[in-house]
Order: sequence, then structure tokens, then C-alpha cells
Amino acid sequence: MEAGGGRRVLVVGAGLAALGAAQRLQGPGSVRLLEAGSRAGGRIWSHPFASGLAELGAHWIHGPSEGNPVFRLASCYGLLGPGAAEEENQRVEAGGHPLLPCVTYGSSGKVLSPELVSSTRTLFSELLGSAQAFLHAKELPAAGVGQYLRAELARLAPTWDEDEDSKRLRLAILSTCLKLECCISGTHSMDLVALGSFGEYTSLPGLDCTFPGGYSSLPDRMLAALPEGTILLNKPVKTIQWQGSFCEKGDVERIFPVRVECEDGDSFLADHVIITIPLGFLKEHHHNFFQPPLPTWKAEAIRRMGFGTNNKIFLEFEQPFWEPEQQLLEVVWEDESPLAEPSIDLEASWFKKLIGFVVLQPPEQLGHVLCGFIAGKEAEYMETLSDAEVLRTMTSVLRTLTGNPSLPAPRSILRSQWHSAPYTRGSYSYVAVGSSGDDIDALAQPLPEDASDPRPLQLLFAGEATHRTFYSTTHGALLSGWREADRLNRLPRAAEQQ
Ligand SMILES: Cc1cc2nc3c(=O)[nH]c(=O)nc-3n(C[C@H](O)[C@H](O)[C@H](O)COP(=O)(O)OP(=O)(O)OC[C@H]3O[C@@H](n4cnc5c(N)ncnc54)[C@H](O)[C@@H]3O)c2cc1C
Repeated sequence: MEAGGGRRVLVVGAGLAALGAAQRLQGPGSVRLLEAGSRAGGRIWSHPFASGLAELGAHWIHGPSEGNPVFRLASCYGLLGPGAAEEENQRVEAGGHPLLPCVTYGSSGKVLSPELVSSTRTLFSELLGSAQAFLHAKELPAAGVGQYLRAELARLAPTWDEDEDSKRLRLAILSTCLKLECCISGTHSMDLVALGSFGEYTSLPGLDCTFPGGYSSLPDRMLAALPEGTILLNKPVKTIQWQGSFCEKGDVERIFPVRVECEDGDSFLADHVIITIPLGFLKEHHHNFFQPPLPTWKAEAIRRMGFGTNNKIFLEFEQPFWEPEQQLLEVVWEDESPLAEPSIDLEASWFKKLIGFVVLQPPEQLGHVLCGFIAGKEAEYMETLSDAEVLRTMTSVLRTLTGNPSLPAPRSILRSQWHSAPYTRGSYSYVAVGSSGDDIDALAQPLPEDASDPRPLQLLFAGEATHRTFYSTTHGALLSGWREADRLNRLPRAAEQQ
């Protein structure tokens, strides 16, 4: 345990934020991670599937270049393939969108014209760029990114000089572009994403890359570097009492301000607790989780911020029906338009929210596997269905798209269910309408808020949702853990001995 009366730190969670914090803490004392689940990694979860692994959570390092701490750490551990280290790849500006050779299937069973798809994508990314430019604007044309984009499209569509069929298809492709943005932002609709803050999310340069041995190889390595016994698995925390005076049996001299009680009845005393649990869990439980409750300004920030669902559906095929060079099979429902109201009949049309499928690489290692992406209420509805139902629907969708009614069904399926996961309750955070980056900073503020409190930094907050410019990413999570460890490392020793 802690040496020489040093500080005792507990970290709630064992995702990248928690592991980063534990890795960075210095000085005499002890650190212990309490994790609700049976593994470390949290929303990084490489799961056996087909002949390799499937990433149920994070898939790419977004922007792998020197400014990305996940890239630096993974490179240092030797976990990345040779392509990631190439300077040329590190300079690519992808703007947060994985750049993959693509084929676009329409719902009439035909492949859509690559020229039409590409010019529509260019139009959409210009519009997204203009939406990002409202950061710091005094006046906004709309509250949400979705309303703004749709108003712009309604203005532009009549000026398109092309036949009605191309116009109709262009609008349908734009619908898919909007759905892809929902996956990236982890939201049901881009109408929910605040226009005024949209430009604050920062993309790093670099061609998004994956981990040949699975993303989990990173948290696994980080955990292995911590002293044995640092992590306690299957230890869900039930409540955190702070501003208290607690002591352990037989040692009345040493008083701790925080007591953490787990669902199994075990309890732990600490000087400081770093809370890295996902915003989805906090939204649902913060009222009873903290005793005394969080101050109103922090509780309100938690309520205002957005946390939605992006799920994955992995399908394994005996043989690929796609060409070897195709890495993204995009899906367009030709009767859709961003200018029309979306269907609200989840049961009848949930699968239309799917944006398409990424082909897992390399097939020699992973098998012939497609990974579908779906966000929002439709993704949450999908979680309520059985594997067999989802597989049946996916088979029918793929038969429609390829125009091949006898396309063989996938031989196995695996999907994520992040919304039902009790200790996550969704996928990642976004800045919702009514919220702003200030709420992210409010969530990150330690407690007690009075800096002159004799027992400072009892509760510290880390996790992807606490990073103002890199929220929703693994690098945001890692940096937030380092930030809170540094905050503790800077704490004068005298303050700790109070
Ligand atoms: C489908 C999906 C795809 C993604 N794709 C990417 C991607 O390609 N690239 C990228 O950069 N990011 C991606 N992300 C986001 C990335 O995975 C997260 O931002 C990051 O992993 C979050 O790390 P964290 O430490 O903040 O939280 P987590 O990893 O969620 O860790 C929090 C931990 O707290 C634990 N916990 C919760 N409640 C309690 C409790 N009461 N007691 C004890 N423990 C508790 C949880 O079990 C969890 O292990 C994706 C996420 C999802 C879901």
C-alpha cells in the first residue's frame, strides 16, 4: 500500500483514461483501479470473431501523427503496422473521415455512379466545413448542425443543373452522408448536435490506422506495466461519499475525505478519486452516485451534454461478394432525401439507418468480414433484436443492394450493444444543442470547487467526454487521464498531509 503516508488514489474504471492516469501518477502513495467489468479497456474491446478479432469499440487511431498520444504510445510499444510510421501517411488530412476505396450500392440493386457519389461527397464536405466555421460566431442560422445543413441543401438543390433522376439520387446520397455524420458524432440526428460548437472538435493529421494485434493490445500493454494487483475487476462502484472523515479500523489517526462503496459491499477509502466512467452512466446515475450530490453547475453540464449510440454489426462470409480493392461498401436508399422527414417506424425501417460496411483488413488474417455501422435510435432498437433477426435482416438488405436474391447469407454475426451496456449506456459524447464546450470544461472541473479547501482534489474527472477538443476519441480519453494525473502530481505535498 501507500509508502510513507503518501496519497491514496482510487481510479474508477479501467478504460484508456483510467490506465493513462494510473500510468502517469507519481510520488509516494498507492493507486488502485476499480473496474465494473471483467476486463480492462472499456470502450476498446477486441473480440474474437471469424478467424481473427473484431473491434466492438474503437477501430481506428484517428489522426495518427506526432500530436496524437495514442499513436505515440502505440508506436513506442511497437503495436502498429509499418504503414502507420510512414511520414507520408502521417501528413494526410482526412478531417476525421476514414479514407477508404469505396463502392456505393443503391437500393435498386445497382452500383451508383462513382462520379455522382464523389461530387456529392465533395459538396457535403464543403457544407460540413461551413458548419464548422460558426465556432465563435455571434449569431447562428440554426441551433443544430442538421437544420443548418438541410436549409443549405434546400437552398442549393433547385440550382443543380441536372436531370430529375440525378437530383433524386444526389439527395439520397446526401441522406447517407448525414447518417455517416450521425455515426461519427454518435448521435441519433445531426439536428441534436450544436452548430455553434461543431468547429471545436479538432481532427489531427494522419491516415487513420488500426492495430494489427487488436486495439486491446494497447490497454493490455498499459495494464501490464502497472504493479500487480493495481486493478480490481468485477468491482462496480455504487456510491462515492466525499467531503467526509473516514478512517480504517485500527487506524484512527489517518483520516480520508472519500469513501467508495462497491455494489458487492466492499468499500475503499481514499484521498483522491479519479472518475473515468462514461457520460452515459453519469447521466443515469449521478444523482445517487455521489454523496453529497454534485453541485448544480456540474449536474447541469452532465444533463446538457450529448451521449448517443453508434453500433457495429460484423458479418462473416464464406466468400467475398465484393472486389478485393473495395474497402467500404456504402449503402444508399434511393427514395430518401434529407429534405423529407425521416421514418419513425423503427420496426419497419431501422436497417435503413445503416451507412454501409467496412471490409476488415487483411482478409487472410481476419476472414471475409464486413463491419456495418449504425447510429441513433435505430442502433438502440437493433440491440433489442436477436442475432438471428439481425442476421436475417442484413441478408435481406444485402440481397436488395446487390440485386442478387440468392446472395449467400453470412455464416456468423457479432454486434455491439453499447446502449444496453449498463456501465456505458451509449457510445460516446457530443456537444448537444443547448450545450457548449464550456460544459465539457465544467465536467472536467475537480471537486471541491474551492481551491483553498484544505482537502483539495477529492474528486477528479477524466474520460473522453471531458476533453474539450478531442471528445469521443481514444486520444481524448488518454489525454484526459494524463491531465488529471498531472493535476494530482502538481498538488503540494503539504496539502496532501492535511
Ligand atoms: C462503437 C465505437 C466505436 C469507436 N470508434 C473509435 C475509433 O475508431 N477511434 C477512436 O479514437 N475512438 C473511438 N471510439 C471512442 C473510444 O472508444 C472512447 O472515446 C474511449 O475508449 C473512451 O475511453 P474512456 O477511458 O473515457 O472510457 P471507457 O473506455 O468507457 O472506460 C470507462 C470504464 O469505466 C467502467 N465503469 C463504468 N461505470 C463504473 C462503475 N460504476 N464502477 C466501476 N467501473 C465503472 C466501464 O466499465 C469502463 O471500463 C469508439 C467507441 C465506440 C463505442
